[in-house]
Amino acid sequence: MDTLVDATATATAAYRSELRAWLADNLTDRYRGLLFRSEPDEDWLTRMREWNLLLADAGYAAPSWPLEHGGRAIGVLEQAAHAEEMAAAEAPGPINALGIPNIAPAIMSYGTPEQQERFLGPLLRGEEIWCQGFSEPDSGSDLASLQCRAERDGDDYVVTGQKVWTTLGQVADFCELLVRTDPGASRASDGITCLLVDVRSPGIEIRPLRTITGSAEFNEMFFDEVRVPVSSRLGDEHAGWAVAMSTLSNERGGVATLHLRLRARIRSLIDTARELGLTEDPVVRDRLADLWSEGERLRFLADRSLARAAAGLPPGPESSVIKIAWSQLGARLPVVAVDVLGLAGLEGPWGLDLLHGRSLPIAGGTTEVNRNIVGERVLGLPREPRIS
Ligand SMILES: Cc1cc2nc3c(=O)[nH]c(=O)nc-3n(C[C@H](O)[C@H](O)[C@H](O)COP(=O)(O)OP(=O)(O)OC[C@H]3O[C@@H](n4cnc5c(N)ncnc54)[C@H](O)[C@@H]3O)c2cc1C
Repeated sequence: MDTLVDATATATAAYRSELRAWLADNLTDRYRGLLFRSEPDEDWLTRMREWNLLLADAGYAAPSWPLEHGGRAIGVLEQAAHAEEMAAAEAPGPINALGIPNIAPAIMSYGTPEQQERFLGPLLRGEEIWCQGFSEPDSGSDLASLQCRAERDGDDYVVTGQKVWTTLGQVADFCELLVRTDPGASRASDGITCLLVDVRSPGIEIRPLRTITGSAEFNEMFFDEVRVPVSSRLGDEHAGWAVAMSTLSNERGGVATLHLRLRARIRSLIDTARELGLTEDPVVRDRLADLWSEGERLRFLADRSLARAAAGLPPGPESSVIKIAWSQLGARLPVVAVDVLGLAGLEGPWGLDLLHGRSLPIAGGTTEVNRNIVGERVLGLPREPRIS
């Protein structure tokens, strides 16, 4: 059965063939398969920066962005086609994996013309790397409880506190930072402000966190009386919650294309098992078929989400269903791979995936929190008690 994108192939055919031709000319082995997951060492950074510039010059770094900011203003179906072609070619995305889809749209919505002029171009070209400083040691799912505080002093805010799990923090130039500016606000979410912070400001210390994969994928950030100009505020004072929700809604909007690279990994496992003659075993065949079927179910869920977007509707609770299904399948795939391939499977990328899979049900909204959303908004179950 065709995907929604296949079914409307005429709408995307011209875009696809132009992108395919461009990839054939530009995606050399120096860039192919550079995945956004490992510790960003110098070689990775150099190659990603080169690749990002190629993408930006061709208008492919953020094709959904408006023309005036360097995008192509393409519609939802072309965006899906873009993601499919990039995944099929094993083409890396832009280096600002959080900046392009999440942070920049918030700057477009809430930023002053000066902020847009200053930040969007270098972010698009990958010349400046951005990180997202939201989570804290005691504030993750319950983000509104965040404690990193900022006090006004003349034309500056003075920021003191801690952030954690900051992806790309150790190589970032700027951080979209949520701080508490009104500790007395009656609702916790009403006392938050968003700042665009130069990560090299005096008083900021960044400590990489090494995970069980062996690489330092994210960081702790410490702020000790860091002065941030008031002109670096994104949106109004105490109105940072709306900016944060806008940033996160863009993150959740991206779930519709998550299945692409996962299904490619499933196909690659099936190919390897076939090459090794393992598919003669009916139990192996059964387990691989089960994975493949789940991958296809995920694709249909994604199509439903794309259909909503194409109809101009905002992302609905189906994003939560996709996030749950994608993270469960993503965590299960390397387990099956290692079972099927045996100990040899642990030495290659599957071994790393086995460890990395632990983070999938947490990043971008945990499984439990997404289940609450499905329970309340899809099944109509009673609301979770709110602490506030
Ligand atoms: C790979 C990765 C990259 C990340 N990158 C960033 C980043 O760049 N910037 C950033 O700010 N953060 C980042 N995070 C942090 C991420 O947003 C948080 O881990 C996430 O929001 C969960 O918060 P927490 O870890 O504090 O867990 P908690 O919120 O403390 O949750 C602990 C456990 O309690 C459960 N739980 C919490 N609330 C409820 C509830 N109401 N009902 C039922 N169960 C509940 C959770 O599901 C979880 O199992 C990243 C995380 C990962 C894994």
